[in-house]
Amino acid sequence: MNVRLISFLSLIICGTLLSVALALFEAGQNLPPTAAPLFELMGKPLKTADATLTRILPIDDVDEAQLGNAIALRYEAYRDKNDPDQIYLENLVRNLSRDSEKGFDYRVFILPYSSPNAAAAPGGVLFVTGGLLKMVESESELVSVLGHEIGHVELGHCMDLVRFQLLAEKMEARPLGEIADLAVGIMLLPSFSKTQEADADRYGFQMLIKESYNPFGMANAFEKLAALDPDAMESANPLTEYFRSHPYSILRAERYRSEATQADLERYYVGERNLKERISRFDTEYPDEWLGE
Ligand SMILES: [Zn+2]
Repeated sequence: MNVRLISFLSLIICGTLLSVALALFEAGQNLPPTAAPLFELMGKPLKTADATLTRILPIDDVDEAQLGNAIALRYEAYRDKNDPDQIYLENLVRNLSRDSEKGFDYRVFILPYSSPNAAAAPGGVLFVTGGLLKMVESESELVSVLGHEIGHVELGHCMDLVRFQLLAEKMEARPLGEIADLAVGIMLLPSFSKTQEADADRYGFQMLIKESYNPFGMANAFEKLAALDPDAMESANPLTEYFRSHPYSILRAERYRSEATQADLERYYVGERNLKERISRFDTEYPDEWLGE
């Protein structure tokens, strides 16, 4: 157990964790190493007593699907099955991941943050903020972001990073629920390489092409992200996935605008109405949303 973890655990015992976590957010510093305080701040109870989550496992024995299931179980309070946004996102993610080579059961959670962001965790668990749903203007743009996150899972980036970080902590056996918190904590502070980010961008773009969505959806989404004030976002939202630097989003937008032009699709689907009505194109295709020809 390292010093950071010991001090973190003692904070829980002291009951001062929430104010410390708040101070960390405001200062824009690194979060504590597990995700639990972040979720506690959002006010919904985390599942604790389930036998799956209390089961103690050696870190080496945790497989990715099992970890994804544990994360989904632990944070299930963040999945309101009657919420139209939730139903819409689940429909999209289920359809977009139907050819998943990993065979994961993809799940999605909506975090109540106003700045646009998204993240992925091992085993096919995706997080998007309410701000992202407000920022995008068509299903194509939303799919480009979801495709990028699915890419991080399918390309093995998430599990590689979690494994690497947990091994670096020199941990041995832990309750699965705690491993789930550690994994989500790691994923909300992503340290993917630029190559991994570029590969996830490509995965998202190829998803647009494969599904005949507007190939400009990705460049549009990056342009909107680039137009946001990064300072205002950093302090408001602990997810750093899309913050990066301002010029970086502009470069990604330029690159994928050019890729979309070269793709030269005869027809493609935009999906503004689908997004507005929260009805996935996989459920209803509107003829007016097809462009080109
Ligand atoms: Zn990414």
